Amino acid sequence: MIIINDIILTPDDNEDRVFEIAKRRLRGDVPDSLEIRKKAVDTRRLVRLVYSVSAHFDENAEKRLAARDKKLVYRRDVQKTEIPMCEKNGNPPVVVGFGPGGMFCALTLARAGLKPIVVERGSAIEKRQLSVEKFWAGGPLSDTNVQFGEGGAGTFSDGKLTTGINSPLCDSVLIDFVKFGANKEILTAAKPHIGTDVLCKIVRNIRCEIEKLGGKVLFDTKLTELSIKNNKIAGVKTTNGEIPCDTLILALGHSARDTQEMLLANGFEMEKKAFSVGVRLEQKQETVNRAMYGEYAGHPALPPAEYKLSYREGNRGVYSFCMCPGGYVVASASEEGGVVTNGMSLHGRDGENANAAIAVSVLPEDLESDVLSGVRFQRMLEQKAYKLGGSNYFAPCQKTLDFIECRKGNLVSSVKPTYRPGVREADLNDALPKFVCDMLKTGFAVFDKGRRGFDSMGGILTGVETRTSSPVRILRNEELQAPSCKGVYPCGEGAGYAGGIMSAACDGMKIAMKIIKGD
Ligand SMILES: Cc1cc2nc3c(=O)[nH]c(=O)nc-3n(C[C@H](O)[C@H](O)[C@H](O)COP(=O)(O)OP(=O)(O)OC[C@H]3O[C@@H](n4cnc5c(N)ncnc54)[C@H](O)[C@@H]3O)c2cc1C
Repeated sequence: MIIINDIILTPDDNEDRVFEIAKRRLRGDVPDSLEIRKKAVDTRRLVRLVYSVSAHFDENAEKRLAARDKKLVYRRDVQKTEIPMCEKNGNPPVVVGFGPGGMFCALTLARAGLKPIVVERGSAIEKRQLSVEKFWAGGPLSDTNVQFGEGGAGTFSDGKLTTGINSPLCDSVLIDFVKFGANKEILTAAKPHIGTDVLCKIVRNIRCEIEKLGGKVLFDTKLTELSIKNNKIAGVKTTNGEIPCDTLILALGHSARDTQEMLLANGFEMEKKAFSVGVRLEQKQETVNRAMYGEYAGHPALPPAEYKLSYREGNRGVYSFCMCPGGYVVASASEEGGVVTNGMSLHGRDGENANAAIAVSVLPEDLESDVLSGVRFQRMLEQKAYKLGGSNYFAPCQKTLDFIECRKGNLVSSVKPTYRPGVREADLNDALPKFVCDMLKTGFAVFDKGRRGFDSMGGILTGVETRTSSPVRILRNEELQAPSCKGVYPCGEGAGYAGGIMSAACDGMKIAMKIIKGD
């Protein structure tokens, strides 16, 4: 195909103009088909819609056009990664964790005929939705929560599929998301997103496909111990019995603190890594639309506005993370006595507020020397937030301006907090270390100055945001296996090899392909 980039329209233009412009750029060569491939909103100076279009010809014509005009880029069609069938004797592979990493690993193994067994500590999505809803309504924190259960940590999320990685596996993952229920616009959007409501259906459909291909998914089953013989995995012990295995994929996510401890005790090589902590900023979506779109705010051709902000001083950064337009701040604890915030939105992104984590980097040198010091640091902040919130999973919440001025104010604001079960007015300076608070304050000032009308000072903050990424890495070698235990593949975000849904899913596929090809 030929890609025609940088076709620019104003929000008032009719979208059909995209094809007129594309045809003009082809200078008389008539394609078999023309399709929009990417659509982005550029708000850097003027608000503009920026398109890429794909034009299909026969391959010779495509190469001739690309040679004639540097702006016409030749690219092979998007292809699904071929998964060869694989015959292996012995036990089926065991995949621990059914988040995007484990799920795409298990799906790929199942497609190769390897009939994986998935072990997931949380419940299937139908039961998980009930547990999470009960918790958000003020009920008890269950073992099945926003971090644990079918679909992993990203199930109750905005389902943003943006990623910094440039892997050919990304196309395969997107195609599968569409196959299992996502709207096909994710294949063309520059910043694709799915939404919690649709994600819940997709993860169930993927589970059904794995089962149809002969795999098994064991919910409410936690990996508790490993059986290792001669530095090689021989089996796993779970809360529902033992499973012999010679191939084990550990796709645990960033919140499986007990399992990380167990691995360390079993001699797995692990190291601490940088992560970030901070607060959730909530503003009215209208405010964000005005700041990003100016006179075009509310225009029907434009989606609810997003932002991505960052500022750095030396080695330390403050940045917006996991921005959820039209979304909700969600209670995301997985341990008793801790408050954790995060954000989600539904596919329509039609909530009244926009939210984003504003996070500050925590560097290994900020922590004590041992591997699990980052975990302890996160836990300490979560426990402080729990106490400040009233020890009932309400979250401490404060107007940004009050946070800047370190004063206990009140929560009377046009921005209504969306966090459930509820919030309690408290000074977040008491929940976070001074270096984090100072950098957050610098960040708010810089962000407001950089984008007129952004007005973070007029927003509200809910805390604490601690689970931005894993504070540890489980080392793996070139074979993608743990050096100290043959047959064990650390995978995804919890192992420190991914950050977000897409990269975790791609890492899962990458490991599965390694196992299938055996090279
Ligand atoms: C509320 C929220 C919103 C988010 N929004 C986005 C977003 O919009 N876009 C994005 O890219 N990312 C988002 N993320 C981050 C994203 O969810 C993670 O990056 C991604 O899920 C990591 O995938 P994973 O498979 O590595 O781990 P996880 O998804 O964390 O899955 C790990 C699984 O392993 C299971 N497990 C752990 N220990 C054991 C054990 N001992 N035995 C059995 N099972 C075990 C857990 O129960 C869990 O289901 C969000 C996260 C949260 C919490």
